[in-house]
Amino acid sequence: MSQIHRAVAIDGPAASGKSTVARRLAASLGLIMVNSGAMYRAVTWQILQDGVDPSDADAVIRALEGMEIGCGIEDGLSTIAIKGRHLTTEVREPQVNDAVSKVASIPEVRERLVEMQREYLTDNDVVMEGRDIGSVVFPDSPFKLYIDASEEVRAARRSKDGEADAVAKRDAQDRQRKASPLKISEGAIVIDSSHLTIDEVVGEAREALIKLGWDD
Ligand code: C5P
Repeated sequence: MSQIHRAVAIDGPAASGKSTVARRLAASLGLIMVNSGAMYRAVTWQILQDGVDPSDADAVIRALEGMEIGCGIEDGLSTIAIKGRHLTTEVREPQVNDAVSKVASIPEVRERLVEMQREYLTDNDVVMEGRDIGSVVFPDSPFKLYIDASEEVRAARRSKDGEADAVAKRDAQDRQRKASPLKISEGAIVIDSSHLTIDEVVGEAREALIKLGWDD
C-alpha cells in the first residue's frame, strides 16, 4: 500500500531565519529538511559558470535543457549536485545572490525544480523551505508557515554572517515576479522572528503546527 507522506511548507523572505527553523523543526520531528533555495542557487551558479547571461531567459532555458541536476539527501538534509559536482558554499557567493532572483523568475526553471522538489515527498516526510512551497509546491498541505522579520533585522543578519546580500532588492524581485511570487499562502500561520531567539521561533513553529492539526 502506498504511504502518504506529509509536507511542512515554510516560506518567507531572505534571511528571515526560515532555514534554521526548518532544520531544527525537521530534526525534532524526525523529517528530512529540503532547502529549495539551494536548488535555484545551484542552477544560477552553473549558469554563471557557463558564461550565460542570467537576464537572457532564452539562453538560460537552453543551458538548463542539457543540465544534469541531482537532488539527494545526506544526514537528513537535501543535497544538490550539477553535472555530478556537489555544490555547497559556492552557491552563497555574492554573484549568485545578485543573479538568483532573475533566474528564479523564469517559469521553465521553476517547472523543472518544482518537479524535483515534489519528488522528495515520494519516499519522505519533509520540511521544505522557500518562497512558493505553500502556494505552489505543496498547496494541499495543511501545514503551512510563513516566517517573517523586519528588513533591518534581515539585513543585519546577513552582514553579521559576512554575506554581502542586498536582501531588500532580492525580496522585491521575488515578490513582484509573475511566476510564483513570494506571498503568504492561504491558511499559513505567520511568525515574526524579528525579536525572537531561534529557540522561541522553533517553539512558535511547533505550536503553530499543532494548531494546524499536526499530531506527533
Ligand atoms: O532561500 P534563499 O534565500 O537561499 O533563496 C535564494 C533565491 O532563490 C530567492 O531569492 C528566490 O529568488 C529563489 N527561490 C525561489 N523559490 C523558492 C526558493 C528560492 O524563487 N522556493
